[in-house]
Amino acid sequence: MRTALPANLMQCIRREPVYLGVSQLPDKNIYTGEFGGLKARVAFDCNEKDREKLTYRVYASLVSMVEQLNCETKRKMKSGEKMIDLHMHTTASDGSDSPEQLLEAVRQAGIHIFSVTDHDSTAACREIQKLISEVRAESGRTEENCDPEKTKTGEQPRFINGVEFSCEDEEGKYHILGYAYKPEDSRVVQLTEETHRMRMNKLELRISYLRETYGFVFPEYEIKKLRALNNPGKPHIGNLMVKLGYAPDRSTAIEKYLNPFSPPNGHIRPEEAIRSILADGGIPVLAHPIYGDGDQLILGEELEARIRKLQEFGLKGLECFYSGFVPKEQKLMLQLADQFDLYVTAGSDYHGTNKLISLGDTGLEAEPEAVPRLEAFLEAALARG
Ligand SMILES: [Zn+2]
Ligand SMILES: [Zn+2]
Repeated sequence: MRTALPANLMQCIRREPVYLGVSQLPDKNIYTGEFGGLKARVAFDCNEKDREKLTYRVYASLVSMVEQLNCETKRKMKSGEKMIDLHMHTTASDGSDSPEQLLEAVRQAGIHIFSVTDHDSTAACREIQKLISEVRAESGRTEENCDPEKTKTGEQPRFINGVEFSCEDEEGKYHILGYAYKPEDSRVVQLTEETHRMRMNKLELRISYLRETYGFVFPEYEIKKLRALNNPGKPHIGNLMVKLGYAPDRSTAIEKYLNPFSPPNGHIRPEEAIRSILADGGIPVLAHPIYGDGDQLILGEELEARIRKLQEFGLKGLECFYSGFVPKEQKLMLQLADQFDLYVTAGSDYHGTNKLISLGDTGLEAEPEAVPRLEAFLEAALARG
């Protein structure tokens, strides 16, 4: 097993993707080492670029750094400026932080404006709204007059309702973010109930598939635990497979055993998500546009056609700032937002300890004011309450 970082991957650290053949891929996806005189942990991700040539696009994200690292390198906005992160997950989907822990982490990180965007769930948003209003009621303070110790920046964070729908149609998979939808009597909430039923059905189909295809048997009490989760997905089943010795690690469990099986009718269509968000007065945004649902890489005309189609359904924005984007991709996203006249959003896709992404890491180095389409989004979302 290699221990040193392959020389051609050093380029990744400078946030330029490199293209590698299968045999050159890093065999560990995390390295700890010195990079430019700084100690860091770096995660490598690969996206299939060209199936025929079997070359992979590899890029790196900084996972954690020692204290002497400056904020610019960490790609967070500098302390004292407005920090925003509009894409994060809690235990209501596949994050590891409870809503309460996440709110505390947001305060600790000094984030000014945030949104929780669980997969097909709005439960954590309700919880966070409640926690925020309890703090306000207890202290009797308004947003303009709050405890300066509560955040590094002296303000209570502003919260925007969020959700991330997993969608699919004939052309592929999409993650559609919904922001600032009304929480009462809500079409978005209804749609999450429908997706929850679909997800529970998928869980049962996956358990049967693993039993019938590989002879993997899960004890009934473990299946009950899975059924009790709000959104049990491949990571949860993967963890259980590792626990029972059916796979050496979660990614092998997912890639080797779970990914080959696609349960039928597993997703809502993107237009359903977009129309529900709009019906609730919300703002639909295409998440991490070049990644589809994370497995796909969509670029060029395919991406433009996708945006054009979603815009016809009522799409209003693109997630142009994203922890996984390299500068070139960020630039491309901003160009597309201009071309299609769409809002811009910024999100990390933080999942707590379940993914190697820091809270607040949106790759956004400028003030939101420097990006008028982002500023316009914030204004529109915050005005909705
Ligand atoms: Zn997503
Ligand atoms: Zn997400």
